[in-house]
Amino acid sequence: MTSIYPEPTRASGHSEHARPARAWVDVDLGAIRRNAERMQRTADRAIVAMVKADGYGTGAIAVAGELSGLGDRLWGFGVATLDEANALRAAGVDARILCCTPLLPGELADAKALGVRPSLHRDADIDAWQAMQGGAWHLAIDTGMSRAGVRWDEVDALRPALARSVPEGVFTHFHSAERNDGSREEQDARFDDALATLRDALPNGVLEHRDNSAGIASRTALRQTHTASGSPGALARPGIGLYGAFVAETLGLEQTVHLRARVVDIRHVRDGETVSYGGTYTAHGVRRIATIAAGHGDGYRQAFSGKGHVLLHGVPVPVAGIVSMDMTMLDVTDARCEIGDVATLIGRDGAGCFSTDDVARAGGISPYELLVGLALRAPRIHFGGST
Ligand SMILES: *Cc1c(COP(=O)(O)O)cnc(C)c1O
Repeated sequence: MTSIYPEPTRASGHSEHARPARAWVDVDLGAIRRNAERMQRTADRAIVAMVKADGYGTGAIAVAGELSGLGDRLWGFGVATLDEANALRAAGVDARILCCTPLLPGELADAKALGVRPSLHRDADIDAWQAMQGGAWHLAIDTGMSRAGVRWDEVDALRPALARSVPEGVFTHFHSAERNDGSREEQDARFDDALATLRDALPNGVLEHRDNSAGIASRTALRQTHTASGSPGALARPGIGLYGAFVAETLGLEQTVHLRARVVDIRHVRDGETVSYGGTYTAHGVRRIATIAAGHGDGYRQAFSGKGHVLLHGVPVPVAGIVSMDMTMLDVTDARCEIGDVATLIGRDGAGCFSTDDVARAGGISPYELLVGLALRAPRIHFGGST
């Protein structure tokens, strides 16, 4: 069987037959590294590379290994849970790890054992961390996300705890920096206020950080007119941009994931007959319908039912009917298609490319959810890495 997306097999030196039989995700580690380098240059700060939710579905361990090559342009990795940190440590990742969600008091001992920097903001937790000599920690300040951290206008109450234990870093998180509607500026101002209030309570050189991917992207327009460059503070925390989505157009980032599935059945459906659950697709005249071996169990969401397109031999073909858990049907009446052919549901095939953002937009879903769904079942084949 020939295919027109040879890059993974070429890069890894395996033959086409080494690919999984049914469905898989080609993950381009080189593209992730180049995206990280581009975001780091734009931020002009060392980055905390966010690898939570298994590297946004792409495979946190492989991503961490690849990004370690950034040297001191990489400050460390960001996770959401201690299990995620544990998986990285077990794989030999000895870089700094920042846990960006509030830990429960009972988790602090595990955080210490893993050498994880927790995000703290309750004085009891700060004192408990200090009492166990937990090490470096970061102060989380809520400037409008209303999710985690101390309110920007209540930081003064933390002074006694900060006098007992000074943080290594202090950060906030933006809720819609991509909108360019002034909300990021308002959050910036609140964070600046909080930092001013705490100026004498924080150590010189405290690592201040605020920009997520959208934050980094939102400052690129400013740079044309202002002398200030890059992200404020010492670090930036890009996540989704590393994986080539959400801010891909603004920052010129590369597609990193390619969801593939083989054609496992083909039939002719007659005029008036329907396809898949709910019978939402009705054939007008005789239609040739192909079944591919991936569905919402592989992260190809039901939102694409009847409106998504996938690439077959580099050419778009429409999804016919509802996406089921294990299989998706395509109308291949006008397409070249045989059993065993490989369809590309997300990503590039020859000259065709449906970016993560294109596919998410077509289904009206979040590119974040689309990416993390790739970790569900289809094995991830990493290629293009530097080692
Ligand atoms: C997830 C997360 C990020 C990364 O956000 P993206 O939008 O994916 O760039 C940064 N900081 C915190 C605290 C996060 O939870």
